[in-house]
Formats: sequence, C-alpha cells, structure tokens
Amino acid sequence: MKAKVAINGYGTIGKRVADAVAAQDDMEIVGVVKTRPSFEARIAKEKGYDIYTPSEENIAEFKKSKIDVSGTLNELLGKVDIVVDATPGGMGEEYKKLYQKHGVKAIWQGGEDHELTGFSFNSEANYQDALGRDFARVVSCNTTGLVRVLYPLETVFGVKKARVTLMRRAADPNDIKTGPINSLIPDPIKLPSHHGPDVNSILHDIDITTMAVKTSTTLMHLHAINVELKQECSEADVQGIFEKRPRIRLVSSKDRIKSTAEAMEYAKDLGRPRGDMWENVVWKDSIAINKGELYFFQAIHQESDVVPENVDAIRALLEIEKDGAKSIRKTNKALGMN
Ligand code: NAD
Repeated sequence: MKAKVAINGYGTIGKRVADAVAAQDDMEIVGVVKTRPSFEARIAKEKGYDIYTPSEENIAEFKKSKIDVSGTLNELLGKVDIVVDATPGGMGEEYKKLYQKHGVKAIWQGGEDHELTGFSFNSEANYQDALGRDFARVVSCNTTGLVRVLYPLETVFGVKKARVTLMRRAADPNDIKTGPINSLIPDPIKLPSHHGPDVNSILHDIDITTMAVKTSTTLMHLHAINVELKQECSEADVQGIFEKRPRIRLVSSKDRIKSTAEAMEYAKDLGRPRGDMWENVVWKDSIAINKGELYFFQAIHQESDVVPENVDAIRALLEIEKDGAKSIRKTNKALGMN
C-alpha cells in the first residue's frame, strides 16, 4: 500500500515536493493545501491533486474562481500518514499542535528552528536516525548543500575545520516583493552566520564557521568552501569522493559552465522539471589543495535541492525503507536524476 502524503503550503518548495512524491511508486499525494485560488491551484488540479484550504474561510474565494475544494486541512489530516509542511518559516509551532492532535507525522523545512522537531535531517548523513520518528526538519537549501559535501569529507578524511563564505541569492525568481537588489549585503552583519550551527544540527562535531552575503541574483547560491582535513589527500582523491556521491554533480568550466546562469541552463537542457537542479553543482576544476588545505566552489539551486531529501525523509519517518542508500537511489531514479 502506498504511503498517504499531504502537502501543507503549496509554494516554491511544496509544489516541487508534491511532484517528487507523485513520481514515487511507494507514496501518493492525497491532497495539497492552498490558501488562495492562484494559477498554482489551477495547475495542481490539472495534475490531479485534490485541493484543501487551511480553514473554512478560504473556501468561498475558491468557489468564486470555480476551483473545486475537497475540504479543509483538518479533514485532510484525517486521511494521511504524514504531512510535508512547506508553509512560510515560523508557522511550525502552530501547525505542530494540529498534526499532533490528528496523530499525523510531519516534516518541516529549513525556515523552522531545529528545536521545533529536535531532529534535523539529511538523507546521506542521518537517515538511520530518522527511522520511525514522528517529526523531522529537512534543513535549509544552504545547509543541505554544505552537509552533502562535508559529510563525505568527514567520513573519508576527517574535517579539522571548515570555513565557508555563502553568496546567497537575494530572492527566488518568482518573488516580486524582495529582489533582486542592486547591492551586496553582508547578512547577517554579526558574524559568524547561523549556517555553521545549522550544519552542526546534523554533523554535530564538525568545526565550521560561516559568513553570508546577499547578492543581486535570483538563480542560485554560490559557496566558497575551505576545509582543513585531518588526513592528507590529493585533488584527485577529493574529486573521486565527490564523483561517487548520489547528489553531487561535478561540472567543469571547460564545458562552458562558468557561472550559476550556465548551471541553470544546464539543468534546463537536461530536461529537468521547472529547470530544477536537485544536486550540488561542484566545479571540479575549482577543487584545489593549497598549503595542505582544500578549496572549492559549489552552486546550490535553492528552489529544489531539498526536494529529494523530503522524499527520503517520508520513507524514513514511515519506515517504508530502512536503508538510506536504497531510499536515495529510489528517489533519484524516480526523479530521473542520472
Ligand atoms: P513560499 O512562500 O514560496 O510558499 C509557502 C506557501 O505556503 C505559499 O503558497 C503560501 O500561500 C502558503 N501559506 C501561507 N500561509 C499558509 C497557511 N497558514 N497554511 C497553509 N499554507 C500557507 O515559501 P517557500 O520558499 O516554499 O518556503 C517554505 C519553507 O521552505 C520555508 O520554511 C523556507 O524557509 C523553506 N525553504 C525555502 C527555500 C527557498 O529558497 N525558497 C529553500 C529551502 C527551504
């Protein structure tokens, strides 16, 4: 029997997770929760997703727009095993009570604090620890991107310390309220940034310090990463480790991928839905060992890298699959990530 999944918050992340869940053969979307009758609601209907609203009050607006609503979130929660909550960050506490009342498991996103669930998730680093839990938080796009490279480096060579500068996209491409900006904004100005401690919510013992700058772009984040490793290794060793990871895509400037713009074009040419790039894009020709320390650049597609992690988190919490590596392979295959 397929696992029954609800999506609460059908925006940038929620709509992508819905499609990724629908692509799996061991889970299905029972309904998605929309606040307003937008074009996204219409397309969700066309895709065959039943629409629910946060409360009765929202239904009238949908009726006016002639979009069928199947009920409220309360009713949806009575029909599912698990909810993926992709509502705007900060709403977690309120909804947690409701999910608990219905005895439904839940997965939140990086906009919530680690304390909401007491467990932060990354498919490769701690799938096993997620098995059977009621609640988990899939960490943010940036933290997911950092854990994906630091976890294998820690496992194989040991990480003495990591120092990272994150050049963050100012807003998502569909955002007409907050960007892009004609500026570079140290954000937060008080150093270090919260990204390091967030990595530590999964990789507890890694010495990591981060700084972040908001930049005038909507496409991707760019990370400049410097790692001091415990064991000596070569550039080829690091490349070899990254090549084997299931969600790292090595690219080269020699192939004319020299920027986040070209990395996004690459995703579109691969035929990815919405032009999404689920993997970390690591420039293999940036990988350098200098004075015994490792340096490299990676780009992170903020709208989509957490999507496969949400699918794996569903399998782990519901214990559909006990082996994380198998879940990752299954998710990747169903999405066509090759
Ligand atoms: P979004 O604004 O694109 O989508 C949120 C959706 O929730 C919208 O459709 C909104 O209408 C809906 N919503 C608002 N109030 C609601 C309510 N009371 N009940 C149900 N739905 C409601 O936001 P997003 O970018 O998808 O972010 C969602 C979460 O994912 C946040 O925690 C965010 O930090 C995290 N996240 C975002 C990104 C990113 O770059 N966009 C990356 C990784 C993680």
